[in-house]
Amino acid sequence: MNGSLPIGRLFGVPLKVHWSAPLLVALLGFGLGSQTLPALAPGHSRAAYTAAALLGAIALMLSLLLHEAAHAVIARRKGVDVEDMTLWALGGVTRMGQPTTPGAVLLISASGPLTSLLLGGLGIGAAFAVATGLHWTVVAAVLLWAGSANVLLGVFNLLPAAPLDGGRVLQAALWRHSGDRERAARAAGRSGQAVGVLLLFVGGIAFLRGSANGLWLMLIGFFITGSAGEEVRRAVLSSALRGVPVSQAMSSPVDTLPEWLTVARFFDDARSYRHSVLPLVDLDGRPTGIVTVRRLAMVPAGQREDVRVRELAIPLSRCAVAAPGDDLYEVLSRLSAPYAQRILVLDGSRLVGIVTARDISRITARRMLEERDGRRDGADPGGPWDQRDHRNPEAGPHTAR
Ligand SMILES: [Zn+2]
Repeated sequence: MNGSLPIGRLFGVPLKVHWSAPLLVALLGFGLGSQTLPALAPGHSRAAYTAAALLGAIALMLSLLLHEAAHAVIARRKGVDVEDMTLWALGGVTRMGQPTTPGAVLLISASGPLTSLLLGGLGIGAAFAVATGLHWTVVAAVLLWAGSANVLLGVFNLLPAAPLDGGRVLQAALWRHSGDRERAARAAGRSGQAVGVLLLFVGGIAFLRGSANGLWLMLIGFFITGSAGEEVRRAVLSSALRGVPVSQAMSSPVDTLPEWLTVARFFDDARSYRHSVLPLVDLDGRPTGIVTVRRLAMVPAGQREDVRVRELAIPLSRCAVAAPGDDLYEVLSRLSAPYAQRILVLDGSRLVGIVTARDISRITARRMLEERDGRRDGADPGGPWDQRDHRNPEAGPHTAR
């Protein structure tokens, strides 16, 4: 996550804090000290409330950390690489590789909410013990608040909505039932979208009725809807494109542009080029990069005679490149460059095709139709997992109020 600072390790896993996490502590502490504590344990000084609120907010952050640590520790026991844990304003995020069995997914995802529920139970129990045994009402109130927040956290994260932990539990169950990992991921993502929209709606109504918590709920709903949509898209792509060679998706032959042409000359012949992005070739016919018609059109009319198209090109070293036999999904998942949706297909140093966003949606649609009609040749699914989780970590907004 951008804007995160490494602060050490917990159980050997690098720990980071996003700039928004101290904001969460401050917000929680303020609400606790100014409203919750005076209401639960009246008759104490402002200083006592402030100190207790600060401790309470820190205790809650620590319990968020334990929630994430549970995911991380179980993941590592299941042989999954854990990259790091980050605390941010909506809770914690643990980035890890992909477990290979539904059972592992179930254990890793359930461990976090179960930890929160356990901590919640302990906190509430301790609150009653402190209140009845020691009569420390402020301490009891802090414990009760932190305990209830943990229970809420555990229950909320068990909602069957990816990317929440409960969504992963659902995914594991569906995966075990159907044997189809991608289909299970899609279903959990769709469930996440539905729950996200519901939270947005409920939060919106609460906010209109004057509750500030409604705003929180909307923010979380917004986050869940977005991440769930991304998961669905990825699962659809993965199940449609895994096992498809790049050569099956590419457009060929390719319109190319000699790199030495002037921009003026290009516009004289522009009608003969059908695409908005054109690969350039040198004198030997080898590809040297790509240029967009839009970029060429930005050259003022008076200078077009003097500028050659290669001066405006994106060099080959910065282009997405693949071989005809590469797995299309693997290629797509390792791309994050701005021109990622245009892949130049090279056979040695020869340009043999190009894959555009349109080619990808065309083949995705075709494969999905085939899958629906049961005409798939079984090239899929399964196989070793990819970088998905490095870019889209398990991101549960472990929120508390
Ligand atoms: Zn979690």
